[in-house]
Amino acid sequence: MTESKPVCTRIAPSPTGDPHIGTAYTALFNYAFARRHGGRFILRIEDTDQTRSTSASEQAIFDALRWVGIPWDEGPDVGGPHGPYRQSERTEIYREHVQQLVETGHAYPCFCTPERLQELRREQMAAKQDPRYDGHCLQLSREEAQARIDAGKPYVIRLKIPAEGSCVMPERLRGEVTIDWQTVDHQVLQKTDGFPTYHLANVVDDHLMGVTHVIRGEEWISSLPKHFYLYEAFGWEPPEFVHMPLLRNPDKSKLSKRKNPTSIFYYRDSGILPQALRNYLGLMAYTLPSGEEMFTLEEMAASFEVDRISMGGPVFDQTKLKWLNGRYLREQLTPEQILVQLREWKLNDATWLRIIPLAQKRLEALSDLLPLSAFLFADRLEYDPLSLVPKQLEPQRAVELLQKALWELSALRQWDVETLKELFNRMSELEELKLKQLLPLFFVAICGRPVSLPLFDSMHLLGLDLVRRRLQYALEALDGEGYELKGKKLKALEKDYQSQYGSR
Ligand code: GLU
Repeated sequence: MTESKPVCTRIAPSPTGDPHIGTAYTALFNYAFARRHGGRFILRIEDTDQTRSTSASEQAIFDALRWVGIPWDEGPDVGGPHGPYRQSERTEIYREHVQQLVETGHAYPCFCTPERLQELRREQMAAKQDPRYDGHCLQLSREEAQARIDAGKPYVIRLKIPAEGSCVMPERLRGEVTIDWQTVDHQVLQKTDGFPTYHLANVVDDHLMGVTHVIRGEEWISSLPKHFYLYEAFGWEPPEFVHMPLLRNPDKSKLSKRKNPTSIFYYRDSGILPQALRNYLGLMAYTLPSGEEMFTLEEMAASFEVDRISMGGPVFDQTKLKWLNGRYLREQLTPEQILVQLREWKLNDATWLRIIPLAQKRLEALSDLLPLSAFLFADRLEYDPLSLVPKQLEPQRAVELLQKALWELSALRQWDVETLKELFNRMSELEELKLKQLLPLFFVAICGRPVSLPLFDSMHLLGLDLVRRRLQYALEALDGEGYELKGKKLKALEKDYQSQYGSR
């Protein structure tokens, strides 16, 4: 890195699925580093995968990061001098750059059909080799390749990486990373539809946007050779790379939504304060020089040194997060400030005006409202685990139904009462159970008792993240009673589920 370049960092999420807690974690460290050095922090949307990217997910990223309170200086929503900041609006830039790589011999068109690639893969797997492209189309002369392109043959552009030797690359937290070229695939840079892949777009944008430090999750280390090679091929100076330790489940596996809520909105909706979540994410890999565990964003940024990032696999522990959140509530906020937070959270007119119509028919006195709707403000509900299982159902069947509903709900693209109604109607048909037999289980799991406010409206109000979490709590509760669903049993159920419910 050239010292004279003004510092610039970025977070580059792909808008697929829920806004991930790992995005806030990485954003926080990028923000702290940029602030510490008086630099810029960019939010770039990496939506090159057009089949998986959605504008709802992009909006959720903005909302989630705003709620956590990590501001960005440039981005698709706030603009800036290096835009556009959405990769789908930069395709022309990538095409020109790919062309440049083809002309300098660092990349080449490949016309292999999906069938040939599949066959190659099968052979390599059978020979216990890592599947990778065999360089078949490298034999084509430029003229032959051009003739095929002119004839309208579909093609991709691949990176022509060295055939042997190894790539030795500086990495700030690890000193050096060495990866054999043999293990690196001839990466597709441009797909048949003309869209770039992550690697190409990411490197081109980091360069054009003036990014000096790439701070990202360690799952990207294996991409480093491709990235360094691209920088070299373009004749650009690479940024400094810092790969953060990944957040982990308590059993040390990579944080996954099966074991832990990973959506930022779950934390917001379950009543975690943004400043506590920010602090906790900072603690995952950083402590203040004073050793103090409670710190603000500004305190973190003011003292931040990359070399103080700790490399142990940080466990994202719900109990510790709650403990820290409790300290904020008890030690940092006045009752008036807590009231402000409560209003921002759920205790506001807008929420009450959604709840009251659901409860109105059941009211005899105003004092009935709070007991009826308390479950809408809770995280984990108190109930006897066996009350989850209606008389007509076996407990093991109840466990399976909860799990299938979890899968079904997670695949939903829309969150409204009508869609939820359809989902459960379909489930009752496929499971050959009347709604009357099926729903009590979900009433207890979601509302804490078999009779409550209308189920689908309540689910809608709670939001997908809390609903998903409540189904997980219900599964845990039945697991505690000996009705578990793990390992082979879970795999078998997933297979049955897929054939029974089909793909969406
Ligand atoms: N789009 C990548 C992601 O979703 C960005 C990785 C990087 O920071 O280079 O995480």
